[in-house]
Amino acid sequence: QAKLSGRNTWVVFTPELEQKIARRQYVEECILAGFSENRFEVHYQPLIEQSSLNVVGFEALLRLTDGAGTHIPPAEFIPVAEKAGEISRIGAWVLEEAVQAAASWPPHLFVSVNLSARQFDDGTLLDCVSACLERSGLEPHRLELEVTENMLIEQEAKIIDQLNALNALGVSLAMDDFGAGYSSLGYLWKYKFNKLKVDRSFVNSLTGPDNRTRHVLDTIISLGHHLDMTVTIEGIESEAQVEALNTLSCDHFQGFYYGKPLPSHDLAPFLANAIQPRKRRLRDAAAKP
Ligand code: C2E
Ligand code: MG
Ligand code: MG
Ligand code: MG
Repeated sequence: QAKLSGRNTWVVFTPELEQKIARRQYVEECILAGFSENRFEVHYQPLIEQSSLNVVGFEALLRLTDGAGTHIPPAEFIPVAEKAGEISRIGAWVLEEAVQAAASWPPHLFVSVNLSARQFDDGTLLDCVSACLERSGLEPHRLELEVTENMLIEQEAKIIDQLNALNALGVSLAMDDFGAGYSSLGYLWKYKFNKLKVDRSFVNSLTGPDNRTRHVLDTIISLGHHLDMTVTIEGIESEAQVEALNTLSCDHFQGFYYGKPLPSHDLAPFLANAIQPRKRRLRDAAAKP
């Protein structure tokens, strides 16, 4: 019996593990080649104000393609980059790109950039951010930095000090993916974030048969507002979800329904064409008796 299960384990497990290791190595090579061959690109996903349906800003989302042009998702390459010690270089590059891009946008738009826990390790993040802002001329309040609660669990004190320094620069700070992990309300009241981004798992179950998700969302939004945070709902994909969300009052919407992440050169046409007609349609619909 034991031999059999041992054998089974050996047969099933080893090729899988080998595959995993090979894939990791491949992704690591792609990351290194990504720099020398310009295969990194930053895409930008719109954030929409719930009350006006205006675009208020964009989230920068990193893209990497391999030599064959196949997309490697950030959920896969970011952890590999973290382990390979490459994330600081990548993070600095994303910041520079995003801040430079935002400096060319209309001045009412902000840009939001995701940070990795590893970017807080060597204590150079503040200098990196302020140098980026200076080079671009972007006003600090137009830059938002996103951290997740999981990062704070790891090394709270070290990160909080640096967040405070960034906030003192005038940069806005967002708690990302709230409610996805080992959610701790503690971080919300111990540290003053400017924005709360509610994880998309909530929206996924919002249009289900019972009202539980709605009540939880309502409570999170009101908690955020009581703590003076702007609340963003992530992951909106359908009209039905928008309708359900419009019975609640948050601040910003983000999701494929309003716009997928776009390359930088597609933003101007997007701003000119995509939102205005939808806005007009909704106004017209509201004006009808
Ligand atoms: P995130 O920061 O929570 O970003 C939102 C993710 O949700 C993005 O996935 C976005 O494309 C996706 N999304 C947006 N709207 C919808 C929707 O309506 N439905 C669904 N199903 N998904 C939606 P993406 O671009 O694959 O990024 C995944 C994660 O990778 C990000 O989650 C973020 O944690 C990380 N990431 C992306 N870019 C960077 C970066 O430059 N630096 C770091 N450190 N992490 C990054
Ligand atoms: Mg994010
Ligand atoms: Mg998020
Ligand atoms: Mg996420």
